[in-house]
Amino acid sequence: MKPAGAVSEVTKIDQIETLILDIPTIRGHVLSMATMRTQTAVLVRIKFADGSEGVGEGTTIGGLSYGAESPESIKSAIDTYMAPALVGRNGDDVNGAVQLVDKLVKGNRIAKAAVEIALWDGLGKRLGVSVAQLFGGAVHERLPVAWTLASGNSETDIAEALQMIEACRHNIFKLKIGKRDVKDDVAHVARIKQAVGDAASVRVDVNTAWSLQDARWGLKGLQDAGCELVEQPVPARYRRAMAELAAGYEIAVMADEALNGPEDALEVASSKAADVFAVKVAQSGGLKRASEVVAIAQAAGLGLYGGTMLETGLGTAAALQLFATVERLDWGTEFFGPLLLTDEILANPITYRDFCVEIPKGAGIGATLDADKIAFFRRDGGRTLKALAGE
Ligand SMILES: [Mg+2]
Repeated sequence: MKPAGAVSEVTKIDQIETLILDIPTIRGHVLSMATMRTQTAVLVRIKFADGSEGVGEGTTIGGLSYGAESPESIKSAIDTYMAPALVGRNGDDVNGAVQLVDKLVKGNRIAKAAVEIALWDGLGKRLGVSVAQLFGGAVHERLPVAWTLASGNSETDIAEALQMIEACRHNIFKLKIGKRDVKDDVAHVARIKQAVGDAASVRVDVNTAWSLQDARWGLKGLQDAGCELVEQPVPARYRRAMAELAAGYEIAVMADEALNGPEDALEVASSKAADVFAVKVAQSGGLKRASEVVAIAQAAGLGLYGGTMLETGLGTAAALQLFATVERLDWGTEFFGPLLLTDEILANPITYRDFCVEIPKGAGIGATLDADKIAFFRRDGGRTLKALAGE
């Protein structure tokens, strides 16, 4: 028996490993800045001194075309700078780890998120509770989930949308636009809205492709076509343009690329540069920072939407743990990442039904990796990207 007042042995962080997975997508995913045929995820596995483990994911979209971090830079930031600073520390002290990493590493939010998720996962597993419980407890068992139509072809998108409605899988569609002329994009959106009618909500993501002038024509055309929301129509730094668009049209304007953590969130909210926040765990810098972005939106009276970097089931499970605790998600979520990949890497896949995604049960983030799939898709496993894509 320990003497009164003795401090229990802490559960130290023993090892932090990373690996890159390349998984083909079920179809080309056409964005304004890139076409994805493979998604690349960086997985983090933390081993603790008591034998427990935690897993996390850091994923981005389109290599370096979407943002400042690439899969390779995420892995390198963790291996070279974060892991050496964290090994030997108390694994239960997630806040201390987040604060230390913030001091040692500027930016690199996706890399930070991957490590932080693994720390929460490990802590939850040791305590036998979900990460949602660590954030105060889930208030939802399931959340509405959008599907992104991004084949690049209107007829293909319409067929895909009607099939999704029929299968009760999705009735919220986000269309990726911004690659073609504005009028062609508006016509594309109008065709799809006409095809799905009142059975579905249609929204668009321009991924920063428009100028303010393009956006004025675009928003006018989109709202006339029955589109409900436009995501990041202009570049992230054009906050005044975003504010003009948010004030000038009925269609909701959502910030995505403009939101890199709580400081950006405060700036966007105080400059009235959005009606809705797409909150992404990776882009925010982790679950805790994402919860702070959520709090700023709530305090400012803005709408909320759970955003994705098209993570695998692992990162998706982590995001679901946090968003399960958010009172109101007026615009739902887009946590469909695992459905865009040809293969599932979880032994316990996330459930999608009745137009919703279910919050995973179990301790930590509620995700168990399929070891064979990880071995198959890991980049250093000797397989080439071309072989994976079936070329
Ligand atoms: Mg977006």
